[in-house]
Amino acid sequence: MELKDKFGRKISYLRLAITDRCNLRCQYCMPAQGINIVDRKDLLSYKEMYRITRVLSELGVNKVRLTGGEPFVRKDFVSFLESLSFNDKLDEINITTNGALISKHIDRLEELKINSINLSMDSLQKEKFAKITRRDVFDNVYNTFEKLEQSKLKLKLNVVVQSGFNTDEIIDFIELSKNKDIAVRFIEEMPFNGKGQREMHEEWNFNNIYSFVEKHYKIIEKVSSKKSSTSVNYRIPNYQGTFGIIPAFTRSICGDCNRIRITATGLFKNCLFDGGVFNVRDFIRNGATDDELKELFINTVHHKPENGFVAEAARGNDVSESMSTIGG
Ligand code: SAM
Ligand code: SF4
Repeated sequence: MELKDKFGRKISYLRLAITDRCNLRCQYCMPAQGINIVDRKDLLSYKEMYRITRVLSELGVNKVRLTGGEPFVRKDFVSFLESLSFNDKLDEINITTNGALISKHIDRLEELKINSINLSMDSLQKEKFAKITRRDVFDNVYNTFEKLEQSKLKLKLNVVVQSGFNTDEIIDFIELSKNKDIAVRFIEEMPFNGKGQREMHEEWNFNNIYSFVEKHYKIIEKVSSKKSSTSVNYRIPNYQGTFGIIPAFTRSICGDCNRIRITATGLFKNCLFDGGVFNVRDFIRNGATDDELKELFINTVHHKPENGFVAEAARGNDVSESMSTIGG
């Protein structure tokens, strides 16, 4: 039994949102006052998340990314990582975090089955960072960055390219990869900002980001990546690390998608751009057996939309929820 859609894509990667809560208020993700968070009882419990992951791993999911909201704001997240590390069917457990709360946990993370950390850091300038995140945590996040860079964990740096905010730092970010074995990834900004009313002056899409970098460096080497990689990856000749661009909004890599998502309230999503297919939490709380869950996952994945445009067109409302709710 495996998870395969009608286009032949095998699903092996789960993105699971640990919570909808967050300690930051990034402009591109949510409005200043935050989003309407759900009641605690409506969040999946760790026990439920563990079970969902186990059932999916029995259907071929071997990679999990834990995200949110900010996973580290949820109490006992590290204990959850400890239990998840016992699942032998998982080859990779990865985490996406804003890094403000994690520096004291890094030693423990190294001992667990955590492969890589995606650290979101959209500016290298303290004041600008505070403007983007609406919180004064740059020093903590930069400290986390330095510690992670020295650790055994693979480090990817996520940078949302925001017109009018940080496009002047694109080269500074790539320069970080000169002497550090890190992967800097530029993400196209998407409208998932919880109705944060962002104005985009210029379109910083994949092609524009690439041309900008090419104009500066002249020679860029393409780096081969896994077929299902979310980013297209490059290296500046002789640089130790790499940089990549994630066409999150222009959606040019959907054809190789191997991902499904489950939000913090248990909403199953076949695609980032769909409106959610069914609620796993309710199904579990109504007494579903593992076999029933498996059947539901198999049937649902079969109908995974061909790409993000098809998914968006089918949902019938606008895509304005916060990434913090979706699980980015
Ligand atoms: N709080 C954690 C963090 O910021 O890394 C995990 C959750 S966050 C929603 C996951 C990723 O989504 C982050 O790298 C963030 O920058 C990105 N993201 C959030 N809103 C976005 C948007 N509107 N467009 C593009 N990327 C976005
Ligand atoms: Fe929080 Fe991450 Fe959204 Fe920023 S991007 S507000 S850190 S969930």
